[in-house]
Amino acid sequence: MSAPMMPFIDLAAQRARIGDQIEVAVRRVVRHGAYIMGPEVFELEKQLAAFCGAKHVVSCASGTDALTLVLLARGVGPGVAVLCPSFTFAATAEAVALLGGTPFFVDVLPDTFNMDPESLAAAVAEARAQKLNPAGVISVDLFGQPADYDAIEAICAREGLWLLCDAAQAFGASYRGRQLGTFGLATTTSFFPAKPLGAYGDGGAVFTDDDELAEVLRSLRVHGQGVDKYDNVRIGVTGRLDTIQAAVLLEKLAIFSDEISARNAIASRYAQGLREVAIPPVVAEGCESVWAQYTIRLKPGQRDGLVAALKEAGVPTACYYPVPLHRQTAYRAYPRAGGELKTTDQLAREVLSLPMHPYLTAEAQDRIVGAAARHLR
Ligand SMILES: *Cc1c(COP(=O)(O)O)cnc(C)c1O
Repeated sequence: MSAPMMPFIDLAAQRARIGDQIEVAVRRVVRHGAYIMGPEVFELEKQLAAFCGAKHVVSCASGTDALTLVLLARGVGPGVAVLCPSFTFAATAEAVALLGGTPFFVDVLPDTFNMDPESLAAAVAEARAQKLNPAGVISVDLFGQPADYDAIEAICAREGLWLLCDAAQAFGASYRGRQLGTFGLATTTSFFPAKPLGAYGDGGAVFTDDDELAEVLRSLRVHGQGVDKYDNVRIGVTGRLDTIQAAVLLEKLAIFSDEISARNAIASRYAQGLREVAIPPVVAEGCESVWAQYTIRLKPGQRDGLVAALKEAGVPTACYYPVPLHRQTAYRAYPRAGGELKTTDQLAREVLSLPMHPYLTAEAQDRIVGAAARHLR
């Protein structure tokens, strides 16, 4: 008989801590009735800006909308290419393709899983040679760790490209002492419930220091409105964050720093226990991750057996990402750096994500590490 399954992400444990406060906050919104663009939305934007040091925060309906709003503002559409990794969640490239632009896939680094600056530089040259008109780059801070911003920003500056940072998995993380939200032209995040800072539904935000961009984003999220809602100065979307979600997020933001510390302690403990039997994730020098996922690398052929052994021990696992975007039906026709993405393909075969959330007990972690070590030894 197999053991009962522990949760992969334990949202119930967080509810036990702040569930009452969240319910009071939600009831307050239900009673005041400003369900759209209520005071909590603006308070959240203010607190998020203070948290990361960005000048402007424009909340919106999802992490995908956040990407789309910035791309719309930059005029991405047919005849424009945007470079992005293939080893990411579909939304990164989807936002480009949905607007008619061309996602150009770039390889990642084997240790951090983030965009490989060398592959990026090569891809820019290739895109130019193919007359694809590269206009910008979307970096992804995968599994909670910032991409290599010194290198990526330098390439963007040299090549005249804007940089959009997809921090859907990494809000709260920092790079060389600077919080995500302050790099590139803009940074986006997601408040999907399973992300490190998750709502009780969909939500997202854009962070930028650019006054003009912030104003355009605020217009785009309400149908391209001008001076009032019956003045339409551009084509936009219905992209607002619900007031109820903002109220939930305000309560969660209050404990977010504490949760990030807990995630980091858990990640260190995992690394200690797993070092001998697998390749634990590498945090680059000067980076702090928020550990949206704890993703190890295994030897070829080990993954399926380990998944089954852990399942038997009551430990759920997930594979992010088994099929990279450049091999997906919807995206395989788009160009990629050097014709193939070797590291991306290799990682897709080797990675496995283990349970990770701030409330993972030492006891549960010992069970996970013990079961993995027993199987892999
Ligand atoms: C989750 C995610 C998104 C999309 O966020 P949604 O809020 O679900 O739209 C975009 N990019 C990455 C890398 C993600 O992990």
